[in-house]
Amino acid sequence: MNQTKYVFVTGGVASSLGKGIISASLGNLLKARGFRVAIQKLDPYINVDPGTLNPYEHGECYVTEDGAETDLDLGHYERFLNDPTSMRNNVTTGKIYKSVIEKERRGDFLGKTVQVIPHITDEIQYWIKTLAKNGNYDFVITEIGGTVGDIESLPYIEAVRQMKWELDDRCVSIHLTLVPYLKAAGELKTKPTQHSVKTLLEQGLQPDIIVCRTELDLDNSIKRKIALFCNVSETAVIQSIDADTIYRVPLQMRDEGLDIEVLKKTKCTNYPEPDMKEWKDFLNRLDNPKHEVNVALVGKYTELKDAYKSILEAFTHAGATQLCNVNVHRISSELFEENNPEDLLAGMDAVLVAPGFGERGIEGKINTIKYVRENNIPFLGICLGMQCAVIEFARNVIGMKGAHSTEINPNAECPVIDIMEMQKKIAGLGGTMRLGNYDCHLIDGTVAHSVYNEDNIKERHRHRYEFNNDYKNDFLNKGMIFSGINEKDNLVEIIELPNHPWFVGVQFHPEYKSTVLSPHPLFVGFIKAAIENKNK
Ligand code: GLN
Repeated sequence: MNQTKYVFVTGGVASSLGKGIISASLGNLLKARGFRVAIQKLDPYINVDPGTLNPYEHGECYVTEDGAETDLDLGHYERFLNDPTSMRNNVTTGKIYKSVIEKERRGDFLGKTVQVIPHITDEIQYWIKTLAKNGNYDFVITEIGGTVGDIESLPYIEAVRQMKWELDDRCVSIHLTLVPYLKAAGELKTKPTQHSVKTLLEQGLQPDIIVCRTELDLDNSIKRKIALFCNVSETAVIQSIDADTIYRVPLQMRDEGLDIEVLKKTKCTNYPEPDMKEWKDFLNRLDNPKHEVNVALVGKYTELKDAYKSILEAFTHAGATQLCNVNVHRISSELFEENNPEDLLAGMDAVLVAPGFGERGIEGKINTIKYVRENNIPFLGICLGMQCAVIEFARNVIGMKGAHSTEINPNAECPVIDIMEMQKKIAGLGGTMRLGNYDCHLIDGTVAHSVYNEDNIKERHRHRYEFNNDYKNDFLNKGMIFSGINEKDNLVEIIELPNHPWFVGVQFHPEYKSTVLSPHPLFVGFIKAAIENKNK
């Protein structure tokens, strides 16, 4: 295909309908047909990126290889497409305005009044088209965050309207809505969808395809009604019924013909059937488990599933490789400050201590790790989880009672985790951590080396603090192993305890890299250890 086609995905009626999953599923199907596909998310909020947001706001902050802190939907794009994303795949209103204001200050607009139309809408179009140009893609799918009718999403809808006008059948717009079931009336209701499309029409955008999220099957009369009221063909009304796993959605969308509609609307012909073999194999393994394990996820955002999105998905990918159903139990680290870990962890086959920031729950994480270390329970510590394992070992094995991280206690007597040299002069909080891919050399004969089966790896980071090398010998003398090192900056990346069945802490975030077709080796190794522990 010589010219990139653009697919826009908007949402109406309610938030959380799953625009990200629909976008990722469509991308998955188009890629399975041999097209080159990229997906991006445009977020209408004013933060420049979600890096400074509390997970309670928008869930996990996802990190790309090139070190962008992004919306968690990019995680879905990578997990469904098995291709890395970059800073170009997530743009916010903050980023758009920042760039336009910088241009204005430089004098680029030559005395003109700078306005939402055309300057902001041009900048939005620039970010859409620049992704296409950089990757030479056949399809760029652009998901617009928020819900149609929000004041802050108006410039995005306007930019899409302009692009459709300019590029015509190289553009297609998909609108995702909700068709609720009213129990008292015993009926599925189309009115919210009609209203949502009306709002879109007021803003000048006619959707080409309507995807209807529903709990029950939509019969043909309902599809016909939506088609008639919303000016789309009946085949362009696509049902998206609740699925037991998000990974079934690409197959549902294929059965409903979503990709065919997109190809039809963009005048593509002569395309191959999608090759879904590997994807179906994965689902097959997921559906037919032979094992089951219980894993505790100890962290401070336990009420909120989205805070640990990538970790939960990585467990699903790794579990499927072992035909193992992984039940993840989120347990608040604060509970371990007052209660007996033995009671809290009863029935758990393995324990993951989560990444995080700040003081809340930290002593609970340290207590958890003491218990799993002493009781030979498989342990994976990620980022702050690894740092807590270092503090625990220092206090309880080496005997450094005053061991701590200077993030929590700047005057710690033994600062075994300390701020990185390169971080000391940085003042602002946005985008200033050690972010994205860094090299890590693995030491032969370690658990890390055996699970990766490689000498050198790259993993994604998001932290300010690190293992303090001044104490390295104290740890080595008591038997801790440093199995992964960033040689360039001499930073500890992985720690292990050899006299334990499976005890690994990583300064990086393996969960960001796990996809359906490339499950992460550390998670696979961890699940194998959990199964072994259970069968013991
Ligand atoms: N708060 C720790 C640091 O900044 C760990 C960060 C994390 O877990 N992502 O180093």
